[in-house]
Amino acid sequence: MDFEAVIGLEVHVQLKTNSKIFCSCSTEFGAPPNTHTCPVCLGMPGVLPVLNRKAVEYAMKMALATNCTINKTNVFARKHYFYPDLPKGYQISQYELPLAEDGWIDVETEAGGRRIRINRIHMEDDAGKLIHDESRPVSYVDLNRTGTPLIEIVSEPDIRTPEEASSYLKKIRQIVRYLNISDGNMEEGSLRCDANISLRPRGREEFGTKAELKNMNSFRHVQKALEYEIRRQSALLLDGKEIVQETRLFDASKGVTHSMRGKEEAHDYRYFPDPDLVPIKIDDKWLDEVKDSLPELPDEKRERFVSEYGLPEYDAEVLTGSVDLAEYFEAAVKLYPKPKKVSNWIMVELLKLIKKEDHDIASSKVTPEVLAELLSLIEKGTISNKIAKKILEEIHEKGGSPSEIVEREGLSQVSDESELSAIVEQVLRDNPKEVEKYRAGKKKVMGFFVGQVMRQTRGKANPQMVNELLRRLLDEA
Ligand code: ADP
Ligand code: ZN
Ligand code: MG
Repeated sequence: MDFEAVIGLEVHVQLKTNSKIFCSCSTEFGAPPNTHTCPVCLGMPGVLPVLNRKAVEYAMKMALATNCTINKTNVFARKHYFYPDLPKGYQISQYELPLAEDGWIDVETEAGGRRIRINRIHMEDDAGKLIHDESRPVSYVDLNRTGTPLIEIVSEPDIRTPEEASSYLKKIRQIVRYLNISDGNMEEGSLRCDANISLRPRGREEFGTKAELKNMNSFRHVQKALEYEIRRQSALLLDGKEIVQETRLFDASKGVTHSMRGKEEAHDYRYFPDPDLVPIKIDDKWLDEVKDSLPELPDEKRERFVSEYGLPEYDAEVLTGSVDLAEYFEAAVKLYPKPKKVSNWIMVELLKLIKKEDHDIASSKVTPEVLAELLSLIEKGTISNKIAKKILEEIHEKGGSPSEIVEREGLSQVSDESELSAIVEQVLRDNPKEVEKYRAGKKKVMGFFVGQVMRQTRGKANPQMVNELLRRLLDEA
């Protein structure tokens, strides 16, 4: 039997406000344990939460960027559960009236574009962190993170493959980074994902019973966990067994999921409106202000890169991957207005160097000015592509200016015809057998000759001239 996966993601995004959502404690990461705490985020009796306006604005930005409808009145609710990292005994979340509902995100997959609907986006406060001592049966609790603002983005079960789930998550990361509302870093926990997955026989409308997967802290883990779960569930279904609705933990070292607990139901949490917080009212003026503050978003930027610069979709997709990269491209094109050429050099050469070190483009010593100068030097015939690549690498590491390096290291291209033809003639004299082969019809030895000339000129010969000269001399007999 052929099964189809049905997947819905619940994504938590840590908002990078300076202070927490209901108190003025700092949200700074990495401080000594329990130093960024106060009676409010420690859940002391008698305290009152005060909502951080910035957190609401960040959440509104995400809602608008994902085509959601914002509820002009929305309400915080208490979601009760006990855990040592939750001192209040309840999380402040939103339940019946969340901040926003009914949006969507478009994602690119190998099978083409897909629209994933968003059920809701709500705000909540983060819990603290438990640190388990490996050597002793002791656990510590650090409440610095308690009260950090989160949004939860709940998708409809519209995702069909692990690859699509990963694209959707990456798109969320891209959007929150464009909006500058979160670091969006899965490894560090500022972007977290729970994945719900069920299977159904292909062609059937009705959903199967789902399992909820947790504990995946990279895009790869999400994909791996879902792939494992598809194998596990299909084996059970083929055996005629039932899927149990439960929460499962991903074990990254083994690549498998384990049952953690039965799934709790909403009524288990005893949700009720938080009496300490008044409903949030969002008037048109505020909404318009937030709308006006939105930057150009990834989809718009990608489309503009195609229409304004005549770039292929693929180039536009890569170059708009981050705001920094897109700004870099646009700055370079201003100085050297041949977009496709600039795009090729960024995508093929520069990104290769940067990815090797896992850096971002803003940290490279190859500034847009450097790249534009390098491309002009190629265009003028001063240097070859090959030399330009070497210079690019050198500048990426040590900095410097292309024309100075060309001057200092004597890298100017040899375009002097008499000088080049002397070398070409010598190469042909030295390799009579290859010349014979060429003349007998093996045109591929051309590459060999070009290589020899390049070697003798240490890569500085003008390749076009070398080719012309070789062809002239070889075809002459
Ligand atoms: P619950 O009440 O169990 O929390 P929800 O309906 O609130 O379930 O959905 C939680 C998440 O699970 C959503 O992202 C939703 O898209 C996804 N989901 C719901 N039903 C299924 C299903 N049958 N298979 C896979 N995912 C599902
Ligand atoms: Zn506090
Ligand atoms: Mg639910």
